[in-house]
Amino acid sequence: MPPPLILTNATVILPGGLLENGAVLCRDGRIEWIGRVRKKWPAGAEIADARGGFVSPGFVDIHVHGGAGADFMDGTPEAVRTVCKAHARHGTTTIFPTTTTGAPEQIQAMFAACASVKKSWSPADGARIAGVHLYGPYFAEDKVGCHSVEGRRSPSPDEYAAYFKGGLVRVATCAAELPGASSFYKAARRARCLVTCGHSNASWPEMAAAFKAGMRHADHFWCAMSSVPSVRARLGVPMRGSMAEFVLAEREMSTEVIADGCHLASELLEFAWRMKGAGRLCLVTDANRALDMPPGRYRFGPEGDGSWFESDGRVGWAPNGSLASSIMGMDHMVRVMRRDTTAPLHDIIRMAALTPAERAGIARECGSVEPGKRADLLVLNRRLQVRRVFIGGTEVP
Ligand SMILES: [Zn+2]
Ligand SMILES: [Zn+2]
Repeated sequence: MPPPLILTNATVILPGGLLENGAVLCRDGRIEWIGRVRKKWPAGAEIADARGGFVSPGFVDIHVHGGAGADFMDGTPEAVRTVCKAHARHGTTTIFPTTTTGAPEQIQAMFAACASVKKSWSPADGARIAGVHLYGPYFAEDKVGCHSVEGRRSPSPDEYAAYFKGGLVRVATCAAELPGASSFYKAARRARCLVTCGHSNASWPEMAAAFKAGMRHADHFWCAMSSVPSVRARLGVPMRGSMAEFVLAEREMSTEVIADGCHLASELLEFAWRMKGAGRLCLVTDANRALDMPPGRYRFGPEGDGSWFESDGRVGWAPNGSLASSIMGMDHMVRVMRRDTTAPLHDIIRMAALTPAERAGIARECGSVEPGKRADLLVLNRRLQVRRVFIGGTEVP
């Protein structure tokens, strides 16, 4: 049995605030006790000195494509491990590998690779896979963004029934205006997924119908989603409400922001946090394979036929000049939120950990520093840079 682990000499970031001069005692991979620094610890304990920095819950990323040169859609266990290791270095301890548009065989290959890594997982593999985000292919044609348009389609029950079999899919996206969307949402709900609308030009009535069918979340707010003018261009007058108004008005709806400092200006990050609150706003990386890679040309999605984009070292750019998802890890998103908003630190960390865990239905296990939860913990320095990463009480090398 491994010795108890004590993280000490830290400001502990709890869901409701900060505990100064704090320590966390873990045993058998679980958090056992949180309190003030003591003079004496159990004999034989392993001590991790945070040196006056922070102890944070490990981050939970529900929308992430790749990193360190690999994309989950490459569809091999090696690619999956490469991405999970890269994101662990940035503080993500629980990850939901996210599909792009693509052929059913490509999506199935990605699922198989993720399932095999999940099954044989050890801390050396990096962030732990809690499930897969079925994101592409059910996108609206006019909101496909940087994904390959050939790989998009409307949902067909035969196709998605195969995806939901086995319970690997935990988050499921579909554009609300597509034919068959309601049936998809109901099936995703039955599969106990967080059901989300994204890459969509949906109107308020379409969102309301989707909500009735179980949809409760919208992907990357303001990105590849409808606005009043975009719905007007599609449906004419009278002008209609869009995804934006529906998500802001409906308390039960959550959403997410790409807080990399390139996608959204500071006022939009501040606005999203003020409007939805930390309990309904998730930080996501939406990172692609250019994370931790030099600037250059990369494929978004499968390495064989994904669409090309250019990384300038800060963000990805599609050939048409629009953004092509982020190249940053969750630690960066947390630092941008602290720099660009007035949200308190414990709220920011909540949005990077507990809120996504709650929305994805895994908050009993992880997402916050609370007794009984898995010891997925980070040591951050005062500048919120990741110094040490523990998953289930074991340090990630
Ligand atoms: Zn997207
Ligand atoms: Zn994405």
